[in-house]
Amino acid sequence: DDVTLEQVREHVWEVPQTGDMRVPARVLASEALLEEISADKTLEQITNTTHLPGITNHAICMPDGHQGYGFPVGGVGALDAEDGCISPGAVGYDINCGVRMMRTNLTYDDVRGHEEELVDSLFTNVPSGLGGGGIVEAGADTVDEILARGVDWAVENGHAVADDRLHCEDEGMREEADPSKVSQKAKDRGKNQIGSLGSGNHFLEVQRVTDVFDDEVGEAFGLEEDQIVVLIHCGSRGLGHQTCNDYLRKIEQTHQGLLNQLPDKELAAAPAGSQLAEDYYGAMNAAINFAWVNRQLIMHRTRQVFERVFERPWEEMEMELLYDVAHNIAKKETHTVGDEKRELYVHRKGATRAFPKGHPEVPKAYRDVGQPVIIPGSMGAGSYVLRGGANSMDLTFGSTAHGAGRLMSRTQAKNEFWGGDVQDELEAQDQIYVKAQSGATVAEEAPGVYKDVDEVVRVSDELGIGDKVARTFPVCNIKG
Ligand code: 5GP
Ligand code: MN
Ligand code: MN
Repeated sequence: DDVTLEQVREHVWEVPQTGDMRVPARVLASEALLEEISADKTLEQITNTTHLPGITNHAICMPDGHQGYGFPVGGVGALDAEDGCISPGAVGYDINCGVRMMRTNLTYDDVRGHEEELVDSLFTNVPSGLGGGGIVEAGADTVDEILARGVDWAVENGHAVADDRLHCEDEGMREEADPSKVSQKAKDRGKNQIGSLGSGNHFLEVQRVTDVFDDEVGEAFGLEEDQIVVLIHCGSRGLGHQTCNDYLRKIEQTHQGLLNQLPDKELAAAPAGSQLAEDYYGAMNAAINFAWVNRQLIMHRTRQVFERVFERPWEEMEMELLYDVAHNIAKKETHTVGDEKRELYVHRKGATRAFPKGHPEVPKAYRDVGQPVIIPGSMGAGSYVLRGGANSMDLTFGSTAHGAGRLMSRTQAKNEFWGGDVQDELEAQDQIYVKAQSGATVAEEAPGVYKDVDEVVRVSDELGIGDKVARTFPVCNIKG
């Protein structure tokens, strides 16, 4: 409320550097989105972040930003990897929460009339909810292998084809993963959740492509109007959550000096080069690999469900992974700062990598157009596919938004909406079939609890950090 904002130019707002701030904070938003961003603690949180040692250029809030644990959801912070720090709260509890989109060669007409069968079969075959188990039951050795090798493990064990791996951010594996830094408790929580959606905001949605805005990029991404695609959103389940928790507690205890300099205890950070920074980085990368395997198993199971419902092999339906993006991670990346190249821990929490064309880390298939960026809207609104924009490296360390962003808390949502009514309305008005573990989940995730995704994407597109390529609309959706 006390935060002063100055407009730099259209969609760019700045909290000037004062007091112990090391750099200014920036908010990328239209006036309408800024009003929503100003309604909770987001501005205060993004400003607090500028106190972290090694923070470079600006702490940046994306157009979908809202308050989170210490660091806003929709926040990007690049912290020097030599004399800065790494902060678990700026990665998020659900390490490598992310989304992947799978293409098909089916059209909306092919699926019409099968929606209920499809949604029932997905709900029965894809584990979701708090209990429920996973797609594979793993012993200790298998968990360690998954943590170390990510989607490589899935390819070798028949849960993926080689192309799936190539179409994941970081090719579905962080080599710096160190399973020995993940606690036994975290592994125990994860071992029977491998291949499970979890609850709440996580979902599997069958969608149809309603618009292709850019024909050239749309073609490179294999997207056409009326095509059926599948969007999967989930993360590292209890394993990631426990890992975040374990390291927050250790870092708070060990690095109290640094903690005392920060305006918010939730920003607890380990100095670069310290044992805990190394350990957390190894453990976080392992949890990242776990989440990729999780989404991979769910996608592969979805192929099998389609095989049964549409009575042909998935290969014939060309069910290929378009791309998998992470939206809760930190990564050591080299960025140009001024005229220097520097190694930075880029924290993207509720933010998506959006590398432009030509970047060596964009997979070959997309290198001439830029990486795919996937931005879900809600179970009653559109979702978007963007491509990394030409300005992202300069403005946001190669990042953009990750969703529409929440407008109200879960508690508030349950007072405003009734799950059954929301479901009935979606079906009657838009022929969207939703199946969830509980009515409360549907209320908490009702379309009305989210901001306007069209507006978020407009800002990303106009800033040139992530450019609009295509829009989709839900056909059916399963929720945890
Ligand atoms: P988060 O990862 O922060 O929970 O949210 C990601 C984004 O997913 C949200 O900001 C929201 O815009 C979007 N979202 C939440 N539920 C659904 C859903 O059921 N379907 C689609 N397409 N998007 C959703
Ligand atoms: Mn998540
Ligand atoms: Mn997420």
